[in-house]
Amino acid sequence: MKIAILPGDGIGTEIMAEAVKVLAVLDLPFETETALVGGAAYEAHGHPLPESTLALAKAADAVLFGAVGDWKYDKLERQFRPEQAILGLRKHLGLFANFRPAICYEQLTHASSLKPELVAGLDILIIRELTGDIYFGQPRGRRVAVDGHFPGAEEAFDTMRYSKPEIERIAHVAFQAARRRSKKVTSVDKANVLETFQFWKDVVTEVHAQYPDVALDHMYVDNAAMQLVKAPKAFDVVVTGNMFGDILSDEAAMLTGSIGMLPSASLDKHNKGLYEPSHGSAPDIAGKDLANPLATILSAAMMLRYSLNQPDAADRIESAVKAVLSAGLRTGDIWSEGTQRVGTREMGDAVVAALHGQVAGKTITTRTAGIIKG
Ligand code: NAD
Repeated sequence: MKIAILPGDGIGTEIMAEAVKVLAVLDLPFETETALVGGAAYEAHGHPLPESTLALAKAADAVLFGAVGDWKYDKLERQFRPEQAILGLRKHLGLFANFRPAICYEQLTHASSLKPELVAGLDILIIRELTGDIYFGQPRGRRVAVDGHFPGAEEAFDTMRYSKPEIERIAHVAFQAARRRSKKVTSVDKANVLETFQFWKDVVTEVHAQYPDVALDHMYVDNAAMQLVKAPKAFDVVVTGNMFGDILSDEAAMLTGSIGMLPSASLDKHNKGLYEPSHGSAPDIAGKDLANPLATILSAAMMLRYSLNQPDAADRIESAVKAVLSAGLRTGDIWSEGTQRVGTREMGDAVVAALHGQVAGKTITTRTAGIIKG
């Protein structure tokens, strides 16, 4: 097995170093190869996703990605901006299903902006479609309006579209994921206003006929946004389109306290995937040993479970993370009175030590971590 390691920019290199350290102690039969991506690749090769990096990602069994971006690249032409590397990888690797678990660790309930009783034990999974919707629909652009409220005025437009196979394949992914959890899917749409999402709702309902053991309900996106902060534990698997998923998954992320804790996976139809923390390159704290590496370490665990067929190793990592939290170690983003503040490297070292059984923590059952709900 081969893992492509793409650290990227900012805190990407720091958090990736910790994840690689954790992977190294598992004693598994895989090799890793590292390549530049994002701003670092632009500096070295003139492109955020050089051919050599793309070739490595294509040849690998899985990709572990740090984060890309820096404000200093904001003025570059869009095609050269670091973030284009992520879109390019998604496109070239055929990654269409984005898994964003939002898990609130019992040790961190107070870190959420919601009341602890609303988030304690939270374990939901947002599945976002990645290839369609208004993000990629053509035509798009700027023009002079010929009709509308202001004919003759400058205007901009995008096109929202979904094909039936695109909706079918993400619906299958959601129902299959739900089968491994609480057997409940909420499909989020805006069918009351948008033709595209009435179609989405019809197709999801049609696919559901093949999963009679899974419950399906439909919710408008505005209500879903509200319910996520009102009663988040009422959800289990949420499936939605590219734009609604982008927004709702960030909202769900914040329920858990810190974006520094949240892993994600983007999968193709063969379960090959790109695994990355949900956060960006955090230029404000880069190079200061302040970043929380746990989202990246947990992304590595997801990679072992979904693409590399090593569920036991994934369980071991997730247990080690919980043991470290139980022992009271916290990076700045999750620190609170009475816990011990540590840096990026110290947190990674603690997870490694826990894998060797050297951190005192509670006995932990691990099936609930990640995607599989016990
Ligand atoms: P960000 O996620 O990088 O940071 C938002 C806030 O969260 C910052 O205050 C940051 O310090 C904090 N934070 C993020 N990760 C953290 C961690 N692991 N530990 C502790 N604190 C953490 O988002 P942003 O500031 O809007 O964007 C910064 C750059 O990252 C931009 O160039 C943006 O385009 C890029 N970005 C990249 C990705 C990606 O690589 N997938 C995703 C989002 C943003």
